[in-house]
Amino acid sequence: MNIKKLLGLDEIAKPIVKDLSDYEIEAERIRFWKCPKCKELTEMEGKMCWKCYADRPQNIEHPSKEEILKTLKKSASSIPFYTGLFLLVFAVLIYIRGSLHRGIETFDLVFIGLFLVPALLLIIYSAYRKIRGS
Ligand SMILES: [Zn+2]
Repeated sequence: MNIKKLLGLDEIAKPIVKDLSDYEIEAERIRFWKCPKCKELTEMEGKMCWKCYADRPQNIEHPSKEEILKTLKKSASSIPFYTGLFLLVFAVLIYIRGSLHRGIETFDLVFIGLFLVPALLLIIYSAYRKIRGS
């Protein structure tokens, strides 16, 4: 697992899925198979559909260009948001912990800032993307 991908930073580096070249789209297409039952896309490593748990068929069908773009947009728009939310929860936990034990000290504030700043940036960024509809 790639950390950059996990944090959604890949999507930040190239946020506009529309700008993918045909070659890149093709590379993304073959990373997924389309469930014959529910039509959802699952990554090639998955032996079962993530949604309906149908087994991966013998003759897999890769998604169409439109389907892969839709899926990429959907996942690209939610990853930074959840990462931001996660960091925000972390900042709040540090705050609560600090205030319960001995009051908030400079040390705590630095830590809170370390989580809070990227958290807010990610959340604002994903909200902005949502509004723009990309
Ligand atoms: Zn399915």
